[in-house]
Amino acid sequence: MEVIVSGSGLVGAAMALALHKAGIKSTLFDQIDPAQAAKDAATTGEPVAVQFGDSGGSVMLGASALRVVKQLGLLDELLANSSPSKFTHWFKIDGTSPVVLDAVHSNSKGEPDPALHAPVQIMRSKLHSIFMNACSKARIQTLMGKKLVSVDDSGSRVTAHFADGTTATGDLLIGADGIHSATRRKAFDDKLKAEFTGVLGYIGVVALEEHNIKLDETCAFYIERNKKQLVATFKVSEKLGAINVMTFADPDPEESKEDAYRPYTDLPKHSARLADLIGGWGVPKNVEAMMRHAYRISPASIYDLPDLEVYHKGRVVLVGDAAHGMVPNAGLGLVSGMEDVGTLLELFLRFPDVKDLEKLLRLYSKLRVPQATDASARSRAMSKQYYETSILGQSFSHLMLRVGIFAFNNDMVKYYDIFDCPAQVAAAVAAEEASN
Ligand SMILES: Cc1cc2nc3c(=O)[nH]c(=O)nc-3n(C[C@H](O)[C@H](O)[C@H](O)COP(=O)(O)OP(=O)(O)OC[C@H]3O[C@@H](n4cnc5c(N)ncnc54)[C@H](O)[C@@H]3O)c2cc1C
Repeated sequence: MEVIVSGSGLVGAAMALALHKAGIKSTLFDQIDPAQAAKDAATTGEPVAVQFGDSGGSVMLGASALRVVKQLGLLDELLANSSPSKFTHWFKIDGTSPVVLDAVHSNSKGEPDPALHAPVQIMRSKLHSIFMNACSKARIQTLMGKKLVSVDDSGSRVTAHFADGTTATGDLLIGADGIHSATRRKAFDDKLKAEFTGVLGYIGVVALEEHNIKLDETCAFYIERNKKQLVATFKVSEKLGAINVMTFADPDPEESKEDAYRPYTDLPKHSARLADLIGGWGVPKNVEAMMRHAYRISPASIYDLPDLEVYHKGRVVLVGDAAHGMVPNAGLGLVSGMEDVGTLLELFLRFPDVKDLEKLLRLYSKLRVPQATDASARSRAMSKQYYETSILGQSFSHLMLRVGIFAFNNDMVKYYDIFDCPAQVAAAVAAEEASN
């Protein structure tokens, strides 16, 4: 079987590694133009690695995702380049009134391996380079400057057409091209588009030790609900941290023109302006200092993809944000994408032949749609918790968060169901065989 993977972001790269593990040949295609990336790096004077996906900074991975990384044989390398994130903190914007989630406790439910109990914080660029280096060792070909623009799935094989006029043909096309996936729009329905939530922001990386910035929490959110302001800090190591600043775009386009937070070209000014901005919001001094010293700042606009009923059509299948791009507030987007990869790995190990593709893809949608739809719903609920106020005031909303987190910490409600790919696939295959 020959597989085309469109998009070599975190999920696409992991997908190619999973296919390799199942003995299936794939080629990665990404729209990223390395020449343009080198030009951008020269303009900013920063030795920026090619950025895949929309945003940089740090990412948190829970047990479900770590399991798949372990299966790909990359867990030790990932753990050596990340930090455990045992607690998640939520504060009011000024750093008062902490609410604390015991992430190890909630993550350990259903996970027998203690090494996977603590979620980890890792720089997105580091994780990506771990995956891409593994792809290169496995001799998986990666072609850049290949923007998918249309899909022809009418024959016995599927063909991807790229903006540069070239094509690629295979037995299966895997769309790993993110929340605005062209694969999804071209092969499924052009109307299946992600919607802008109104939330805009910036993400930056901070050299903590170099600037003498003390950061106790590994994952912390500072929230002002009435003004819809959110600042998040992440500690990836003693040396390195990341900061996210999020707020709503002004709903009045005329008024917002002057103050809208848009990408700047002058990075130092940018971080200083953002530091002044969040200083004005009242964040603690160490958080303001993080923003002031942040570099490699990337803009992030938050979109939400309406729930899809199915993730496959003909010889095309969607993984990661292309299938279920969700708001980031519950930290489940990449986790869900890695679960897709783990599920397809198990399915390909069982059904490596082209003749079984229809069954394999049907089982994939059957297993992944309910789990990822649930993750999207949890993410939306968390976003509502952050950005919506109650008529009883924001202190009441913060109290509600405290009650919710107490319920998670004390096993009254589950934070998230860990997805056991081998067990889930085995059960689905057994059920299918029993029904035949
Ligand atoms: C601020 C923020 C914080 C987050 N934090 C977390 C977290 O802590 N934990 C977590 O689990 N998730 C988190 N997420 C979600 C997570 O980042 C995404 O779910 C994940 O990056 C999706 O990976 P992906 O590979 O599916 O898509 P992407 O990372 O978007 O990669 C898509 C790739 O496809 C390429 N591409 C796009 N269009 C085309 C085309 N037409 N042709 C060819 N190539 C194309 C792009 O260049 C890119 O390389 C966060 C998201 C945001 C915005």
